[in-house]
Amino acid sequence: MLAHYIETKRAHPDCLLFYRMGDFYELFLEDAVTAAAALDITLTKRGQHAGEDVPMCGVPVHAYDAYLSRLVRQGHKVAICEQVEDPAEAKKRGGKSLVKREVVRIVTPGTVTEDALLDARRHNHLVCLADAQGRLGLAWVDMSTGEFSVQPIAEAGLAAALARLDPQELLLPDRLLQREALFEAFADWKSVMTPQPGARFDSVAGEKRLMALFEVQALDAFGAFERAELAAAGALVDYVELTQKGKLPRLSAPRRLQAGAVMEIDAATRRSLELTRTQTGERKGSLLSVIDRTVTGAGARLLAAWLAAPLTDVPAIEDRLDRVQFFLDQEALRGKTRETLKRCPDIERALTRLTLDRGGPRDLAAIRDALTETSTLRELIARPSLMPLPAGIAQALDDLGRHNALVDRLTRALAAELPVLTRDGGFIAPGYAPELDHLRSLRDESRRLIAGLQARYQQESGVSALKIKHNNVLGYFIEVSTNHGDKLLRQENFIHRQTMASAVRFTTVELGELEQKLSSAADKALAVELALFKDLVGEVTLRADAVALAANAIARIDVAAALAELAVDCRYARPEMASDTAFAIQGGRHPVVEAALQAAGARFVGNDCVLEAEKRLWLLTGPNMAGKSTFLRQNALIAILAQIGSFVPADKARIGAVDRLFSRVGAADDLARGRSTFMVEMVETAAILNQASERSLVILDEIGRGTATYDGLSIAWATVEHLHAVNRCRTLFATHYHELTQLSEKLDHLACHTMRVKEWQDDIVFLHEVAAGAADRSYGIHVAKLAGLPAPVIARAEAVLKRLEEGETGARPGSSPARIADDLPLFAAMAPKPPAASPAGPSPAEAALAEINPDELTPRGALDALYRLKGLL
Ligand code: ADP
Repeated sequence: MLAHYIETKRAHPDCLLFYRMGDFYELFLEDAVTAAAALDITLTKRGQHAGEDVPMCGVPVHAYDAYLSRLVRQGHKVAICEQVEDPAEAKKRGGKSLVKREVVRIVTPGTVTEDALLDARRHNHLVCLADAQGRLGLAWVDMSTGEFSVQPIAEAGLAAALARLDPQELLLPDRLLQREALFEAFADWKSVMTPQPGARFDSVAGEKRLMALFEVQALDAFGAFERAELAAAGALVDYVELTQKGKLPRLSAPRRLQAGAVMEIDAATRRSLELTRTQTGERKGSLLSVIDRTVTGAGARLLAAWLAAPLTDVPAIEDRLDRVQFFLDQEALRGKTRETLKRCPDIERALTRLTLDRGGPRDLAAIRDALTETSTLRELIARPSLMPLPAGIAQALDDLGRHNALVDRLTRALAAELPVLTRDGGFIAPGYAPELDHLRSLRDESRRLIAGLQARYQQESGVSALKIKHNNVLGYFIEVSTNHGDKLLRQENFIHRQTMASAVRFTTVELGELEQKLSSAADKALAVELALFKDLVGEVTLRADAVALAANAIARIDVAAALAELAVDCRYARPEMASDTAFAIQGGRHPVVEAALQAAGARFVGNDCVLEAEKRLWLLTGPNMAGKSTFLRQNALIAILAQIGSFVPADKARIGAVDRLFSRVGAADDLARGRSTFMVEMVETAAILNQASERSLVILDEIGRGTATYDGLSIAWATVEHLHAVNRCRTLFATHYHELTQLSEKLDHLACHTMRVKEWQDDIVFLHEVAAGAADRSYGIHVAKLAGLPAPVIARAEAVLKRLEEGETGARPGSSPARIADDLPLFAAMAPKPPAASPAGPSPAEAALAEINPDELTPRGALDALYRLKGLL
C-alpha cells in the first residue's frame, strides 16, 4: 500500500495527497507532518519505511471539506485519491490484493467548487498569464460560475490588471518569473502563483484546445485573439482539465476585454481608496461594505466585480444607471423584487457542481427554486401598468428565460426532504417513476413481512420475548435471551448463528429469502434512483447555458435594485455622464466616512469640487485633520461609483468618464519590498507622471513629505508643473508646502483651495469646508496640542516657530535654526522641575504613619491605626 502511495505521490509532487482508506483520508510521510501542523491534528505512526517510522495523520471522510478548506486557504493543493472499486472486488481477486485507488481530483485555490470552500460574496478567479511573440496575454475564469475572459496586456499594465482580478491562483510559465520588468507586478501575488513548464503555454496547442472545447472550426466569432491570449486561454483550460481529471465545468465562450473598456486603477490606488478591502485587509470599512445592499450571493459577486472594473463607455454606464433609476422610482416594486430575490438560491455554483458530476440532490433543488422565482420576477416587473422598461431590464427579463418544463420536471421528481449526498438514495419523490415506486413497495412489503414473521415465530416457539433485529454484520436475525436459546435450538427451522453473553441469535430459510428480496429490491431501487438523478442532471446540463444566463440576470436585477435601495437610503444622486473631461461635483460626500459619522450621530459636511478646463488642477492646503484626504478620496470614489453605474454621494454631479485613476494618498513603508515611505511615494508618483492622460483623474496627497524640506518642496513643485503642462489631467493636489500656492499666479489652470478652520480662544475648530484661497497657517502645533503632546513641548515648539517666522519675514534677521539653538534657552532649562518633596514638610497622614511601629501593634490596634490614617487623608 505504501509503495502505491509513494508512486501516486510522485505523480503529484506539489500536492498533499489525501489517500482514501475506509472512512478516512490518510496522509503519510512528509505530507502527514505538513498537514498535521497546518490542521492542528495529531500526528501518529504506522509501520516502517526504509527502516524509519512512517508518520501518518488522517481526516474523517464525512467532515473532510472543513479540513480541505483550511488547507486550500493556506495555499496548499490537495490531490484526492479515492477507492475506485468495491473492497469486495479486491477480496475476490484473492489474498492481499489492494483496493484500486486513483486520484480523482486535484483541489487548488483557483479551482474549488464546494460552497464550504468558497466565499459566497466573492469571485474566485483562476488567472493565467502567458507570453508569445513578445506580447503578454491574460485569461481568467471563475470556476464557480464558468465566466471565461481574455485580454492582451502590456507589461506596464499587468500590475493594475492583476489588482483588478485579485487572483486566487495565478498560473504562469516559469520563464516569466525571471523577467525583471514583471517583478513589480508579481510582488503581491507570490503566494498564489503556480508556475508551470513553458511547454504548457503553446499558443497553437491552445488554439486547438479552445476550438475543440467550443466545437468550432475557428475562434473568429469570439474575437480576434493575439497569440499570447490563445496561449493563456489554452493553458488555463488545460489546467482545469488536469485538476478535474478530465472533467470540465461549463465554461462560457471566451469574452475579450477591449483595451480601454474599463477604468484602470493600479494596485496602490485600489489599496489607498479601500475599494473592496481596507488597508488592513478587512471587508468591513471598505467602500464595498458600505454600498453593498444586494440580497443574493451572485448579486454580491457581480457588484464586487463591477467595483473592481468601472466602465469607461458612457452609453454602457447610462444603461446601468437607467436600471437603477427604474427601481428607484418604483419603491413598491423594488421591495417586492428584493423579497423575491431573497428566495433565490445561488445557482451559479450549483450548476458548476452539477456539470462536474459533483452535485447532489440539493443542487437540483436550488435550480428548481431559483428558476421558479424567475417567473415570479418576470410577472412582477413586466406588468404593463408599471413604468416602461429600460433596455437593460428588458434584456434581463429576457435572459431569465422560461424554464417551465425543467421546473415542472424537477418539482415532480424531487422529494420534499433531500439528503446532501446521492449515494444513499431517498431523494426521488413517490409517484415520479412507477418502476421505483414498485421496487420501493416490494422493499416495504418485505419489511412488513419480516415484521410479521416476528409475531408468528413468537407464537410458534412460545417465546414471547423473541425479536427480529438487524445489524450491518449479520443482516436480519432472530434473537432470544440465553435461557430461551435451547428451546429454539431444538426446533428444526431455526438455524443457529451466534451465541452472545446474554442472547442467542438464529435465522431461518424464510427470513433469509425475505431479506434477499428486500435487499435486492432496495439495491434495485437505489440503482433506479441514481439513474434518474443522472437523467435530471443531464437535463439541467443540456440547458446549462440558459440556466447560467438566468443566474446572471438574477444577479443584474439584484444589483440594480440594491443600488436603488442604496441611493434612497443614503440620498445619492444620479450622476450626469459626459463625453468631455467635465468634473463638477456639488455637495460631494465620502460614503464611508459619512456612514461612520452617521453611526456616531455626527454630520458630514458636503463639499463642491469643480475641475473644468478652466481650472483643472486644484491645490489644496489646510492643517492636518482638516479633512484634506477625505476630500481627495471622496472625489475619486464618486468617479468610481458613477462609472460602475451607481448613483453618487453628492447633490449633483457631472462627470466626463475617467480612463485612469491614480491616487497617492498616505503611503506606508513597504517593508515587504524593502522600501522606505519616500521610495514608495516616488515610485508611485513616477507612474502617475508617466501614464496620466488628459482623461485621467489624479489625486495626490502631500508628496515630498518623506524627505528634507527643500528637496520635498522642489519635487512637489516640479510635479505640479508637469501635471499642469504635460499630463493636463484633472488633478487634486493636497500639500502642506504653502510656497506652492504662489504657482497659481503662473499656472493658468491651477486654482488654490483650502480647508476652512476657525480660531477660537487660542484653539482651532475644523469646519471641514473647502473654500477658495490658501491657508495662511498650518496649525500644526494646535493639532499637536489636540493630540496630547505634553504642555512644555508645545510651549517650546511655539517659541521655536515664532523665531523661525520672524526670520522668514525679516523682522529679526539671522534667525537660522543654528542661531535659534543658541538664543533660546534650552528645553531642560525651561521645563518645570519635577515635583520635589512637598515644601511644607510631611503631611499629617505621613507624620502619623511615621509614628507607627508595626512590631508593637496588635491586630486590633493595626486595624484602628488604619482607620485613623484614612481619616487623615
Ligand atoms: P487631513 O487629511 O487634512 O489630515 P482627514 O481627511 O484625515 O484630514 O480628516 C480628518 C477627520 O476629519 C476625518 O477622520 C473625519 O472624521 C473628519 N472629516 C473630514 N472631512 C469631513 C467632512 N467633510 N465632514 C465632517 N467630518 C469630516
